[in-house]
Amino acid sequence: MRARAPPGSPAPMADSLLQNLVRQWLLDHAGQVDFAECLASALGQAGPPGVVNAPSIGLALEELAHQPQTFWAGACLCGRPGLRYGW
Ligand SMILES: [Zn+2]
Repeated sequence: MRARAPPGSPAPMADSLLQNLVRQWLLDHAGQVDFAECLASALGQAGPPGVVNAPSIGLALEELAHQPQTFWAGACLCGRPGLRYGW
């Protein structure tokens, strides 16, 4: 499933594999807030070894946070600031 960019929005940046993984995970868990380290644990089994780590996921989350109508800041279950998709 590919989301169509709304008219007038800038062209999407080149996506890294990790960013795609993070985005897909957030979409699959809409409404759930996730912090980089918690996402790293959740995604640890999903991604290729060496790709999924908390600092890289933190960067991917920062990129996704630049899509304010799609991704929203919130507090993760662990209390740290994270990102969620949807409501
Ligand atoms: Zn957390």
